[in-house]
Amino acid sequence: MSVPSCDEFDPNALTLEQARAAILQACDALAESETVPLASALGRTLAEPIAARIDVPPAAVSAMDGYALRADDTVEGRELMLAGTSAAGHPWDGTVAPGQCVRILTGAVVPEGADVVIMQEQIERVGETGIRLHNGGLAPGHNIRGPGSDTASGTALFDQGQVIGAAEIGVLASQGIAELRVLRKPRVAFFSTGDELVPLGEPLGPGQIHDSNRHTLRALLASYPVEALDYGVIRDTEAAVREALERAGQEADLIITTGGVSVGDADHVTRVLQASGQVGFWKIAIKPGRPLAFGRFGNAHFLGLPGNPVAVMTTFALLVRPALQALAGRDTTPPHTISARLVEDLRKTPGRKDFQRAVLATDERGWVVRSAGGQSSHQLRAMSEANAYIVLPRESDGARVGEWVEVLPFREVF
Ligand code: AMP
Ligand code: MG
Repeated sequence: MSVPSCDEFDPNALTLEQARAAILQACDALAESETVPLASALGRTLAEPIAARIDVPPAAVSAMDGYALRADDTVEGRELMLAGTSAAGHPWDGTVAPGQCVRILTGAVVPEGADVVIMQEQIERVGETGIRLHNGGLAPGHNIRGPGSDTASGTALFDQGQVIGAAEIGVLASQGIAELRVLRKPRVAFFSTGDELVPLGEPLGPGQIHDSNRHTLRALLASYPVEALDYGVIRDTEAAVREALERAGQEADLIITTGGVSVGDADHVTRVLQASGQVGFWKIAIKPGRPLAFGRFGNAHFLGLPGNPVAVMTTFALLVRPALQALAGRDTTPPHTISARLVEDLRKTPGRKDFQRAVLATDERGWVVRSAGGQSSHQLRAMSEANAYIVLPRESDGARVGEWVEVLPFREVF
């Protein structure tokens, strides 16, 4: 076992759990709400409880194509007289008398008098106007969906705080609810900092790189119910950083920056935050993503992510995501992890909890996982090869082939 290096093991570093708890403690759900059409409600958080207004289905309807009749008449071999047809949207408005039946289609209203539906496969047609039953003894209600059997009028459907997904949209539509009251979208201002950064479409000069973080951030934010405010690339000068932060502190609920939060000379972000914000500069015992700034600037929460692109994505998954969930009034339960079998040895230095980019797959014995390649925090391409993180504990010095390791699938966090 290797000895922890001074660089890796920092007794003052926060654990991931401590950092997460501090962020969740600070970020409350927004208080303001707005009314939106159902078509725009996906991903939003309900601001008030909703109860069912009508029975769904509103009447007793058939669960299949067949014949509606009286349960007393379901005697194998009995012949019944066909009195009419009830189709979806076109009820038959007579009453089924003893010895009668009505042709009925799925979703059609079961006529008065009838209390069972026999499948069309269980009868035989007799001439133009009769059927013979090939089954009998059906109990009342057979193949019938009662009124309110999906949702009964007055049932509490959703609590305040419910996130609206596809199923909720369907339930609300089935109730005829066209508008709902949801929490306002958090406004999230984000920008990149660094004199080396060049916008897309411009050639690179000496020492320059393209600004990728801001585009990654915009893409990550797109799956949250937020109003994203892209402030572009901000130069590494105190005036430029101050101006951007002051504007964001007015306009936004949350400010996300990348770069300039490690305590280096050119990091004007740090200087402005120290002078005018209430921001803590954290070292978190995770890899990648050790330096991170969190606090407030103006009226907004502030999250200063590291500059390295893989650290940006990883701190977003682990620490920005809970902040966004909390502001949006969503459930903040930590993401689920699974166990997978390693198919190769992994190296690690003790000291930080490691989130290695990995490829998760299955074999005949279950989940298997391997490294996705380059594990340096600038190697964004391995992030794109990967579909999961292998999570190695802080004290771990690596893991061997065949060991079961903790895995965080990307679909839990991105
Ligand atoms: P910093 O935290 O500002 O010292 O940046 C750490 C590393 O991340 C440096 O190699 C930067 O060039 C790189 N970096 C910072 N911002 C970006 C960005 N927006 N896009 C791509 N790389 C970046
Ligand atoms: Mg920088």
